[in-house]
Amino acid sequence: MKTGRARMLLAGAVATVLFGQLSAAARTDLVQHSPPPPLTGGGRGVGEAASPEKEQSFSPPLPRKGELSEESSYRVLKRKLVERYAGQLPTEWGESVTGVTTRLKVGSGEKVVALTFDACGSGKGMGVDRELLAFLEREQVPATLFINARWIAPNRELFDRLAANPLFEIANHGFRHRPASVNGRSVYGIAGTRDVGELVDEIELNARNIAELTGRRPRFYRSGTAYYDEVAVRIAGELGEQVAGFSVLGDAGATLPAEQVKQALLGVRPGDIVILHMNHPEAGTGKGVMAAVPELKKRGFRFVRLGE
Ligand SMILES: [Zn+2]
Repeated sequence: MKTGRARMLLAGAVATVLFGQLSAAARTDLVQHSPPPPLTGGGRGVGEAASPEKEQSFSPPLPRKGELSEESSYRVLKRKLVERYAGQLPTEWGESVTGVTTRLKVGSGEKVVALTFDACGSGKGMGVDRELLAFLEREQVPATLFINARWIAPNRELFDRLAANPLFEIANHGFRHRPASVNGRSVYGIAGTRDVGELVDEIELNARNIAELTGRRPRFYRSGTAYYDEVAVRIAGELGEQVAGFSVLGDAGATLPAEQVKQALLGVRPGDIVILHMNHPEAGTGKGVMAAVPELKKRGFRFVRLGE
């Protein structure tokens, strides 16, 4: 059982990395990285448009002697993966590269579909579609929620409530919302993680963060923009995170009007995984989902979380 103090300490360690105020312990771990390049441009695909991240001040509690074991075990894990994957050059780059799960395994005649909602936490992505979430709860529609680390703090109360509701599965949408790369490839103008170490931070820091906050480590990971190289996907697997792609583009990065979201959903086939967003109440996503779900239920579809 984690003590409150240990929980605060890890949250502090995570926040120091997130906001760049590195403690001595974290600094040794991250010293090889120069500051990440600024986010520019905006995607029209599955990732939401990038915008400059707001820096926030944060004063983590100072660690006491003997309380750094989690951080040091993290450093060992990271070093091991950096060594193991050194020099492995990826050949694939995309949303459904080798190792990405894009569909559910379903028996014949089983009409199931998985709705997945990302909460990206970019500058303009801190919002919440409360109407959509209330609808899912009222209609008892299970869903998998991919949560980025930055989205949690401004929405902490809601996050705790969603995590406590068995209707929802909390999944990992990365620490800084980066495309998952081992050599810094970018997409939609958003720079991917530049090496294995940064990729491990991107996946593992948010996985540990969510585990600390909810008591359950997320089983599924989707990168910011949902882009990967195949080496990054293997590394996610080593960290115990299954990479969750999609087979239906539900809202194209929360850019589609409601009618198109509805039509995308009405086109699902059994076993499809639909990618949508829960952090853009101004988008057509919520209304489109609310229009399509009753019709899909009428057609005999059942909604499942990815982990079922
Ligand atoms: Zn996202």
